[in-house]
Amino acid sequence: MTERDASPELDPSDPKPIRKLKESLINRIAAGEIIQRPANALKELIENSLDAGATAIKTTVKDGGMKLLQIQDNGCGIKKADLPILAQRFTTSKISAYSDLSSLRTYGFRGEALASISHVANLTVTTKTRNDSCAWKASYVDGELVAPKAGANADPKPFAGVDGTTITVENLFYNTPIRLSALRGSSEEYARILDVIQKYSIHNALVSFVCKKVGSSTPDISTPADSSTLQAIRSLYGQSIGKSLLHIDVENEPNAEHSWKAEVYFSNANYHAKRTTFLLFINHRLVESNRIKRALEAVYTGVLPKGASPFFYVSLELDPRSVDVNVHPTKREVHFIDEDDITIRIADNMQTKLAKAGERTFEYQSLLTGGVAPPGSIKKAGSKDKARAAPVDDEEEAASSSEAVLPVPGERKIYSQHKVRTSAADRTLDAMFPVPGPSQVKDAEPASTPKARETFIQESTCYLLSIRGMRRRVLQQRHRQLYEIIQNHTFVGIVDLDRELSLIQHTTRLYLVSHGALSEELFYQLGLRQFGNLPRLRLDPPPPLRELIALAIEAEEHSDKSGMSKNELVEAIAGILLDKREMLRDYFSLTLSEDGLVESLPLLHRESPPNLDKLPLFLMRLGPQVNWTSEDECLDSFLRELAYFYTPGPSPFTGEGKETDTKAERWQIEHVLFPAMRQYLVPPKNLLDRDIVMVANVPDLYRVFERC
Ligand code: ADP
Ligand code: MG
Repeated sequence: MTERDASPELDPSDPKPIRKLKESLINRIAAGEIIQRPANALKELIENSLDAGATAIKTTVKDGGMKLLQIQDNGCGIKKADLPILAQRFTTSKISAYSDLSSLRTYGFRGEALASISHVANLTVTTKTRNDSCAWKASYVDGELVAPKAGANADPKPFAGVDGTTITVENLFYNTPIRLSALRGSSEEYARILDVIQKYSIHNALVSFVCKKVGSSTPDISTPADSSTLQAIRSLYGQSIGKSLLHIDVENEPNAEHSWKAEVYFSNANYHAKRTTFLLFINHRLVESNRIKRALEAVYTGVLPKGASPFFYVSLELDPRSVDVNVHPTKREVHFIDEDDITIRIADNMQTKLAKAGERTFEYQSLLTGGVAPPGSIKKAGSKDKARAAPVDDEEEAASSSEAVLPVPGERKIYSQHKVRTSAADRTLDAMFPVPGPSQVKDAEPASTPKARETFIQESTCYLLSIRGMRRRVLQQRHRQLYEIIQNHTFVGIVDLDRELSLIQHTTRLYLVSHGALSEELFYQLGLRQFGNLPRLRLDPPPPLRELIALAIEAEEHSDKSGMSKNELVEAIAGILLDKREMLRDYFSLTLSEDGLVESLPLLHRESPPNLDKLPLFLMRLGPQVNWTSEDECLDSFLRELAYFYTPGPSPFTGEGKETDTKAERWQIEHVLFPAMRQYLVPPKNLLDRDIVMVANVPDLYRVFERC
């Protein structure tokens, strides 16, 4: 039959009539929104038991909770008179007026859990209050009392039982086959059930939790009553975590508008897990928040090697008026007032505590991962220098290397729904212009590519108070948003090599950054990180210190300001450096021979050797730019000078071959520096002043295009 022959009322393009859904169907759909799987039902039931003041909660499970989910508690019980309306929607003992909503401190408050369960399962309640002489048993379907057997009446029946309540949920989703088929199979559903119980038992260490499968004599979870949070975490997540836990209490700033407090247990640098364990309770409800999770995970960057994940448990108590628990039907993903500020304050406190605990930690960490890095293979290709940079490869020096070999870390995920440069993530501005032939590029590249061997640079152990203070300062001055941008950026391209400007993208935003300023900070932090244990870059043959300094002084225009002759200046600077030979060698791996030859330089990053054209300037500046009289300032200013030396930028003696050098430099910036920033840079707030600006927000651009 063709469409033309079809009668008008059968035309498939005609709208179908709208019918009112049957009430029971609506309830069933609504219930499915709240109870999506056995673990959701269990969570609601545990919360009810805790609200009822239970000190022992026992769960019995069959078939991952799909056949049977039974929760027995020793709480206050339910009055017999309340049983008939118990499973109707919006019946609750916890709220009677709208205004109560805002002051409510118990778990659930919408009177929906039992009602919902009764719409998608067979629900039976057995309960006894202290004053009742016997227990009462009632069964429910679709919110109403039903007779347990055909022929009997629906009224609650007297029953022999102990104080407390037992809720039995059978045949979950028997009447919604689609929900049932969406479940994962009983062992996975059971794992989720165990997860919920585990988390609640940590948050309620005073309550005893037991969970077992029907027919099994040994429980899978059994926690004692009157335990402590720490004991509970230890017994449930293993002794190894117990040893590496730190604890802090944080609260609102004294003059804050909304008061709040948080208790946090979190792992230190010794604990490495494959995946993050995150327990978040807000006003004693187990909730989820990916935003908070990510923010707290970020505290561990630079503390844990890449690929290693922490454990943290956060119990946050807020003024109930500032929580919006209604955002998600399952009420798990919450939002609240001052969310960002609170998260930042918690993260900052965690960071400070981690840094304080760091001393012991870093020692232990280097023992754990103390593999010896293979000797570097860095060569400055195409270098016009007489001095050639050679790899450090004798045993003694290799053994003193602080680097450990780790698996090549994967690319960081960009967390954004609005990701724009996805498949074209590798296509940079450079890629859009004609590129030189492969042989040319190869010549210009450093001999080893970063993909060939990536190593994680561990922080060295250092007992100098000054260095520890500087390390702490770096963490304290971190700008969180900037950090997030650098961590998860996509490199777009170099805009101007001479002015050291590049474009990077983060989520939908495009930022113009000074890669010079960022690299300088990066190299400063790399120096600080490896202080006392910097790999050495040997110069072969070693150039004479005085000649190099003289070269730089000649290039400086105003060198006669001091009134000294050129030779006097050279002597003065060389004198200072030679005087400090031992310190320069031990702290910075800058080795000067007694007769004034530069034997080795500190190697801040194996894939990023310094431009030796700038060596004369570096050595010369060490004289006037470093304050040699105070330890703090001396170390800090030396590291700053070293960073400046390492930072790519216009070289003072460029001549022939400039083009090749430019290509090498571009390659270096994109493939070494930006990835290294992602891995190690803790950007300080002051970079925001002039070194990074947002130039566009992609959705805004689209809006502009739409108008055209
Ligand atoms: P809500 O918890 O939002 O009030 P529920 O449907 O979860 O709604 O529970 C309805 C009411 O049943 C509760 O307010 C409480 O009075 C009572 N109740 C449920 N479970 C228990 C229990 N285990 N012990 C005592 N009372 C309970
Ligand atoms: Mg409830």
